[in-house]
Parts: sequence; C-alpha cells; structure tokens
Amino acid sequence: MSTHDHADPNCIFCKIVAGQIPSKKVFEDEELLAFHDINPWAPVHILIIPKRHIPSMAEISDADAPLLGRMTALGTRLMKELGVTGGFRHVINTGRDGGQEVYHLHLHVMGGPRPWLKG
Ligand code: AMP
Ligand code: ZN
Repeated sequence: MSTHDHADPNCIFCKIVAGQIPSKKVFEDEELLAFHDINPWAPVHILIIPKRHIPSMAEISDADAPLLGRMTALGTRLMKELGVTGGFRHVINTGRDGGQEVYHLHLHVMGGPRPWLKG
C-alpha cells in the first residue's frame, strides 16, 4: 500500500470518485474508476484512475505493481468494449516535464480512427 490512501479535498479526480463532480463513467470497482476524458485527443479517450489518491507515477513503488497491472489490462478490455479495433495508446504523464496537469495518477487510453487531435 502507498502512503497516499486518503482523498485529497482539492483534487478534481478525488471529487469525481466521490461523485461531487460528474463524469461519463465506463467502469468502476472497489479499486479503479474509468471515465471519458472531458477534452478528448482521439475519437475514444478514457482515463483510468485508482480510487485512492496517488499523486503521480513518481510515488509508485513495487507494491503498486498489481494496481498498475490491473489499470493497463483494464485499458485493453475497455478499448474492446468501446469498439476500438484499429489499435490504441496507453499514456501516463508524470510531473512538470512529463506534461502532467492533474496530480492524481491516471492512465490515458486512446483509440479510434485517425486523424487525432494530438499524439
Ligand atoms: P494530464 O495532462 O495527463 O494530467 O491529463 C489530465 C487530463 O484530465 C486531460 O486530458 C484533461 O482533459 C482531463 N480532465 C480534466 N478534468 C476532467 C474532468 N472533470 N473530467 C474528465 N477529464 C478531465
Ligand atoms: Zn485525488
């Protein structure tokens, strides 16, 4: 377990987990939540997040390997369920130089026919 187990009251994705901000959910269980990105770069663009507040990949350790494994495999499953057949991208931005804007760990999974807006 990471030390970042509690919700951060200022975190937009913690607010989505708590239902205080609406989202277009595609999957939810005890540990993970997946929803459509509000500003999609591709025809299908979802975000997969752990429900607990982990700020970024910079805080990840070996103990989080099962969580990260579940997140990546869920991305593949959801692309199939959302009808993406031509391939997709898994992306995680970390820190300032990594282009991270929201400091609650999230996996972008993007697919659908090109051209895309970005990436
Ligand atoms: P990153 O630059 O990797 O931190 O990406 C943050 C992503 O979160 C961007 O693609 C935003 O469009 C997305 N985003 C921000 N706020 C929301 C929201 N309320 N619902 C869904 N996606 C959001
Ligand atoms: Zn959070």
